[in-house]
Amino acid sequence: MKKIVILGMSGSVGQQTHQVILRHPDQFQLVGFSVWHRHHDIPTWINQHPHVTMIAVQSDQIASEYQLLYPHIRFVSGAEGLIQLAEWSHSELVVSAIVGFAGLAPTLAAIRSHHDIALANKETLVVAGELITDLLKSHPVHLFPVDSEHSALTQALVGESLASVDHLILTASGGPFRSLTRAQLSGITPEQALRHPTWTMGAKISIDSATMVNKGLEIIEAHFLFHIPYDRIDVVIHPQSVVHSAVSFIDGSVKAQLGATSMEIPILYALAGHQHCADTTHPFNFFKHPQLTFEVADSERFPALRLAYQVGREGGTKPCIFNAANEIAVEAFLHHHLPFHLIETVIEETCKACPRENQTSLSVLLTADQQARQIAQHWVHHLGGRPS
Ligand code: NAD
Ligand code: MG
Repeated sequence: MKKIVILGMSGSVGQQTHQVILRHPDQFQLVGFSVWHRHHDIPTWINQHPHVTMIAVQSDQIASEYQLLYPHIRFVSGAEGLIQLAEWSHSELVVSAIVGFAGLAPTLAAIRSHHDIALANKETLVVAGELITDLLKSHPVHLFPVDSEHSALTQALVGESLASVDHLILTASGGPFRSLTRAQLSGITPEQALRHPTWTMGAKISIDSATMVNKGLEIIEAHFLFHIPYDRIDVVIHPQSVVHSAVSFIDGSVKAQLGATSMEIPILYALAGHQHCADTTHPFNFFKHPQLTFEVADSERFPALRLAYQVGREGGTKPCIFNAANEIAVEAFLHHHLPFHLIETVIEETCKACPRENQTSLSVLLTADQQARQIAQHWVHHLGGRPS
């Protein structure tokens, strides 16, 4: 029985993980979780998972209220509470499913405490890929990617040596605006951008998919997970999201992984430590997908891809700066403070303005993140005032 902690229980990945755990009570036991925004659901989740004995919430006040109701559970709070939950010695696997930079510190804490990680929070590897690569050399920890593309790549690489890999092929749906020109993007509303054609996800990743920043983050994520140089990581637009990604080998052979568009499949594969477990919830039928199409991912049309390759190659704190600028720009867009088509401009200008530092510690990354956020805010004010 694997004891699991979910960081980000109320989110899209958190809730799908909760469903997977409920369907496999003989294999997984949820022992703790963090909940930031939907704390009213805590009683329901406690009822569904009777082995939960630690919960991290946002504020001291919420923690005290629930502590009175559930004396057998330990409630912790704030950023420190998240770290305590991530470090908790009772758990065996931590599902890192908080969105954005906020997921970094608890994920690092979980690795330092020798917990295996099911990693949904791709921002962690983007921001701190070099630091984590070093950390994994001295900590006996498995990092199981939850992202569907990286799960697909992991599956395609089973039994293969890296020397036989020619390149990795990340598939991208292209988001809801794939067929619009850049000029047509200016009037896009948050409501339109949140409607992803093939996946149902949290707000930030939905916008990231529409701008292709998500694929940019995934390029960097793949680089650190599989140790493949950036010039051997390609992106292909595949609107149906049936081929989740592929590996091309040096003899011309290509291994792709296919399946239903449900995150529950890669989540289960990660929870099980890269094993296929019996689960009939999301069967795949070739005949429901008579047409699979593939298009070039054009860096002019999707500048986020060009920028991601650029910051990835520069390394150090540059991917952290890219990520921070994107988080600010996405938030501004969602609040109608920035037009959709200027999200990449905020990222590009922030990356130009912020110098690269070596990625030596978490505090270097925290500083780079804060500086980049300030500069990105400046660009949001500057550009957001302009007619779009
Ligand atoms: P979401 O917005 O649905 O959920 C985010 C979770 O993080 C929520 O539980 C929220 O309460 C919590 N949270 C937000 N800010 C926090 C903070 N400061 N401190 C603590 N908790 C905080 O997001 P999601 O779609 O579930 O995505 C989560 C992560 O998984 C992201 O990094 C995303 O890129 C990645 N991911 C998601 C999907 C998907 O299908 N949703 C697929 C692949 C990867
Ligand atoms: Mg993905």
